[in-house]
Amino acid sequence: MSYITLGSSIWTIQCKPHYAESWRAILKTRDDLLAIAGGQQGAQAALNSCVINGDFVVRKAYDIFRKKRSKLGWTKALACTEILPKHKVCVIQAAQQVLSTIDKIRACGYHLVNWCCLCEKVWESHRHLFFRCSYSQHICRLMVNWLGITGCRSDLSLKNWLYRISTKGGLSGWKIILVTSCIAGLVYSILEERNKRILKGQARHPDLVAKHLQWTLQIRLLVSNNFSIRTG
Ligand SMILES: [Zn+2]
Repeated sequence: MSYITLGSSIWTIQCKPHYAESWRAILKTRDDLLAIAGGQQGAQAALNSCVINGDFVVRKAYDIFRKKRSKLGWTKALACTEILPKHKVCVIQAAQQVLSTIDKIRACGYHLVNWCCLCEKVWESHRHLFFRCSYSQHICRLMVNWLGITGCRSDLSLKNWLYRISTKGGLSGWKIILVTSCIAGLVYSILEERNKRILKGQARHPDLVAKHLQWTLQIRLLVSNNFSIRTG
């Protein structure tokens, strides 16, 4: 460590691109700790609190970082069991932007054509697929009409959408379940359509995708809770 820090404090040394991955990970953890603790003094105090009888207790250090995750208020709405598990997994990955969209694959050094296969107009990214793509927005509009809800904002990110629902933004009870199921199903359906186009060369009209999703949700919710959805 003294070779890299050259006598500097661990709190002030700058991370350089040529540092080993393990060392960069240490400095990244340091930056996270500084952000959580609000500065060097707080970070030092947090680390000191992890030392019990002269031993550094990893569990207590882990708790410091777990507190940062308390911001995950957007996942509350996804706790209901009515959402299909495959929809739920998909929407969580999409909200965290960890799906292997083409922009991410290219960032790893693989040279792919970064083109949204749904609208064929702009580059593919999480932000574009959910829901700035004209194809995705078409399905969104159909689903919103189907639900009969108003006041939807298309400028919100997926995570913000889920956060607003989780904090009961004007919704309550079964409406939260219904809207969350719909969003999770939307994300799954859009990703499924995108994968089918890339891997199998199969394309469907957005009307058909929306109809299939409505049918899936209706069956799922009716079976789970005896919901009665007026489909007009
Ligand atoms: Zn698109």
